[in-house]
Amino acid sequence: MAKLQLTCSCGTVRGTTSDMNGKTGTRIMCCCNDCQSFAKFLEQEGNVLDSYGATEIFQIPLSYVKITEGNEQIACMRLSKKGMYRWYAQCCNTPIGNTMTAGIPFIGLIHSFIDNSSIKDAKLSDNLGYLQTKFARKTVYSDQQASQFFVMSKIVFNLINWKIKGLHKPSVFFNDNGQPVVEPKILNI
Ligand SMILES: [Zn+2]
Ligand SMILES: [Zn+2]
Repeated sequence: MAKLQLTCSCGTVRGTTSDMNGKTGTRIMCCCNDCQSFAKFLEQEGNVLDSYGATEIFQIPLSYVKITEGNEQIACMRLSKKGMYRWYAQCCNTPIGNTMTAGIPFIGLIHSFIDNSSIKDAKLSDNLGYLQTKFARKTVYSDQQASQFFVMSKIVFNLINWKIKGLHKPSVFFNDNGQPVVEPKILNI
């Protein structure tokens, strides 16, 4: 069991996760347009996206994220009115992660906010590979692609399990009324 150490690139926003093991969460490379747009919005494409245009995402229970410093620098954007809540540290535009609404118990934590050495120490589950590859910037060969069916089944199973366990609360990102802690900036693209 190990915790992940969380930090934005300038070190103002810091946090940690609950204890995790190799079975916690789902790790994937997401090539989708929206993840690419988020990196572009932050002007962090070079830091966030790999050569395929993919963002490494680690989907864990929402309540596992604890912010210990720099709460006031947390900001939020949505690509459209119904889009995901995309959280970032506005001090240095480091993406933090993506969530749905307050009752949905996950956050897709973005690799940029995770201290790399803590990933090695935690012996996390393996990365399952690339998803949404039709949006990729170059060909993703089949051995690098994640099985969509396997990933979706795992995510649905986790969501039900985490919801039953009440792991959507406490949340750094939503207050007790289910409102986001900061007003999201909504883009219309
Ligand atoms: Zn920062
Ligand atoms: Zn995506």
